[in-house]
Amino acid sequence: MRALVTGGAGFIGSHLVERLLQRGDEVVALDNEVTGRWGNLPDHPRLTRLHQDAVAPFDVDGPLDVVAHLASPASPIDFLRIPLEVLRVNSIGTENALRLAERKGARFLFASTSEVYGDPAVSPQPESYWGNVNPIGPRSPYDESKRYGEALVTAWHRVTGLEVRTVRYFNTYGPRMRADDGRAVPTFLVQALRGEPLTVQGDGQQTRSFAYVDDSVEGTLRLLASGVEGPVNVGSDHEVRLIDLARAVIRLTGSSSEVVHVQAAEDDPRRRRPDLTRARLELDYEPTVPLEDGLRRTIAWFRAEGLA
Ligand code: NAD
Ligand code: UDP
Repeated sequence: MRALVTGGAGFIGSHLVERLLQRGDEVVALDNEVTGRWGNLPDHPRLTRLHQDAVAPFDVDGPLDVVAHLASPASPIDFLRIPLEVLRVNSIGTENALRLAERKGARFLFASTSEVYGDPAVSPQPESYWGNVNPIGPRSPYDESKRYGEALVTAWHRVTGLEVRTVRYFNTYGPRMRADDGRAVPTFLVQALRGEPLTVQGDGQQTRSFAYVDDSVEGTLRLLASGVEGPVNVGSDHEVRLIDLARAVIRLTGSSSEVVHVQAAEDDPRRRRPDLTRARLELDYEPTVPLEDGLRRTIAWFRAEGLA
């Protein structure tokens, strides 16, 4: 197989690229390093790097069997810092990637998100839930452009017959997250390793369900290989309160840090947990890495990289 992975120099993208290389595929990784870095990828004879903004029209030499569109900033601080870039890469960038897939006769995969459910009024969230999103709030450039992306991908399929897959990732963590990307896991790890207070936003009673990156990549590959055209939740359904995540990080790092409560983030979803029924039934998917194991592996990586 020959695959294009946009956002291939990013966190999830680089793990996906590695898995594709390991199984013998040829990969073109496209990225503009806005939030990723080429150093996340190994030198490999079957890997081509394409430094390119996905928002500008682009082409790729040779055949493609798969176009996986993962390019998009993914941290809430980036939704505030570069909202227009976020909106564009999930709208114009998605259309550019769809056009390329159509030209090449490739199967298309769109990296969507649990954020399409907004601050959910039902829990766990099944794919059939339409969500509760503030269209003009601080998270809206991301939430609404991912929702638009899903609509675009669905319409493209209806109009052209292009084979499409949509993965709704829930919070995914692991090695290669940027130490300063602002998301809870890298922030807490770095704070704990440095002996600084862990900044829990709000009362810490809000929940997330954290998936180790290998599990999310496994779900992605299963979805790509499947015949499931509608969106599929991928992640872990082990739901934890943020205050408990902070305490677990302190314990696992052996840190002397304390927890401090800082201002809650605006429009922060109170809870988030995937209903994984569809992934289990249609993809035979099951998350396999318990939170503590995944945190240990991530801590080891941050230590080895000297990031704290
Ligand atoms: P990331 O920031 O590490 O990776 C995104 C990559 O896309 C980066 O390398 C970045 O440089 C690149 N990129 C962004 N805009 C671009 C553009 N215009 N042109 C070319 N490259 C561009 O983030 P991630 O956590 O690996 O997320 C990957 C994908 O998965 C994103 O689409 C994100 O929305 C989605 N997702 C991630 C999570 C998660 O918990 N990590 C959850 C839900 C959805
Ligand atoms: N969070 C926190 N402290 C931080 C960063 C995040 O308490 O330093 C909280 C944040 O308020 C949210 C949860 O952790 O409730 C997950 O945030 P993250 O940015 O990792 O992901 P997302 O909000 O996109 O799920």
